[in-house]
Amino acid sequence: MAWYKDMYPSMSVEELKAKAQRSLADAERSGGHLTPVTVTSRTICRSWWGKAWCRNMETYLDYTNRLPRGRSYVRNGAVIDLSIREGKAEALVQGSEWRPYKVTILVDPLPRERMEKISRLCSRELDSMEELIAGHFPKSLESLLTERGTLFPTPGEIEFYCTCPDSAHMCKHVAAAMYGIGVRLDENPFYFFIFRGIDVERLVKKTLDSRVESMLSHGDVKNDRIIDDKEVENLFHLK
Ligand SMILES: [Zn+2]
Repeated sequence: MAWYKDMYPSMSVEELKAKAQRSLADAERSGGHLTPVTVTSRTICRSWWGKAWCRNMETYLDYTNRLPRGRSYVRNGAVIDLSIREGKAEALVQGSEWRPYKVTILVDPLPRERMEKISRLCSRELDSMEELIAGHFPKSLESLLTERGTLFPTPGEIEFYCTCPDSAHMCKHVAAAMYGIGVRLDENPFYFFIFRGIDVERLVKKTLDSRVESMLSHGDVKNDRIIDDKEVENLFHLK
């Protein structure tokens, strides 16, 4: 990696932090509303969802040489803005230049057949679905939703762009933004479903409907298991 270090001399952590603070202050002065990523944990992510996201990204073996710098960048406040919406995450990442770099991460929507597989898997786990609706992510559902090739993007399903001069497909700024997404998932795991274009309300309702139909046909439905539309709407409201 010597060539890489020669091309892009490393900055001290203090220098990086100072530049990030200055960029934030500049944005504030010009009326921008940035949402920086703040890492409070030694492990970057604390929740199962955040950690699973980072572990999946770390399996993209072509990019392993940029990951340590990406971790250092996100830890030291270089991701000064990050937004996640359907199919697209955009970040501003402070680097060695005066202006922060713009990072764009595009992810394919989850294919319909995989979505249906998830719905089928979930319908066998009604108790877990109820926990999910209550805002928790039960272990049994996590393993179903994240088994290989189910929910997390493969390298072929994700694209990265950065305005920096590094020609690598995943530069350290992209790596920092990817860790930043993990931190956002700590704050609210439903960002993951938004990012992959999964309509969670529809998934939950479809799964519950099919389960209730099955229970009705077996004559063992319980009234307290039926969840009304309003309740589902309230529980998945993000803002
Ligand atoms: Zn870059």
